[in-house]
Amino acid sequence: MKLIRKSILIFLIAGPFFFNSCDSGINLFSKSDDVQLGKDLDAEIRNNPKEYPIFKGDPSVKRYINERIFQHILASSKIESKGTYNYQLEIIDQDVLNAFALPGGYIYVYTGLLNYLDSEAALAGVLGHEIAHAEERHATERMTSYYGVSILLSLVLGENPSQIAEIGANLFVGLGFLANSRSDENQSDERSFEYMKDTRYYPGGVKFFFERMRDDGLVSSKSDKVATFLSTHPDPIDRIANTNNRLQSAGLPVKDYKSEGEGIYKSEYLSNIKNKLPKK
Ligand SMILES: [Zn+2]
Repeated sequence: MKLIRKSILIFLIAGPFFFNSCDSGINLFSKSDDVQLGKDLDAEIRNNPKEYPIFKGDPSVKRYINERIFQHILASSKIESKGTYNYQLEIIDQDVLNAFALPGGYIYVYTGLLNYLDSEAALAGVLGHEIAHAEERHATERMTSYYGVSILLSLVLGENPSQIAEIGANLFVGLGFLANSRSDENQSDERSFEYMKDTRYYPGGVKFFFERMRDDGLVSSKSDKVATFLSTHPDPIDRIANTNNRLQSAGLPVKDYKSEGEGIYKSEYLSNIKNKLPKK
């Protein structure tokens, strides 16, 4: 395990930059490995309330997000693994501006992000993005390129398959495991944009969060609140431009996070989500 721990350290320090140029697209894990890994890591999260306190406030908040937004996105025919993956949503009660996905469809969103957003379209864009990370299997793809094909093959084919889960659990420390590359981010934004076309939501909502961060001066901030987000989701400014290009190519209006009207759903967001969260 010493080698693995040393690797984690490098992983955490190098973060997303290390992976920019080595998206191989090779994935030695099977979809059922993704499900098992996600299940194990989800259990770790639930057993670690200090680091990941599950939201215990008004249960209607999670129910609303799940039924009205999450399941609505999952109804898109473009989400191909919904029969295989355990798609589920959880809220973590921390003042952190972030959301993340584990392999196999386990999606988490922080109350800090829910408090920061102000429309269903913005939240739907984020959830679509996280669903795309699970669908495209970015985490196990990254683990494949990180550990190398030969090491993983010996684990996959070897006598100790539980070691795969152990690697995943170790990588998960400090969320280093979730540091996404630029190309993974771009692909997930693009997929989210496509999923949104099948929903009631404005497809450009995926960028609303970044526009507000930009206007609030948070993109280059070193505050704890955004540090994890920026280390796991690089280049928010480029992502705004990429989404605007997608909107233009699709002949859709380029709206921003201040926009109201069709497909945005601000008052619904306020009354069913934001106003039901404890005030900070
Ligand atoms: Zn991402």
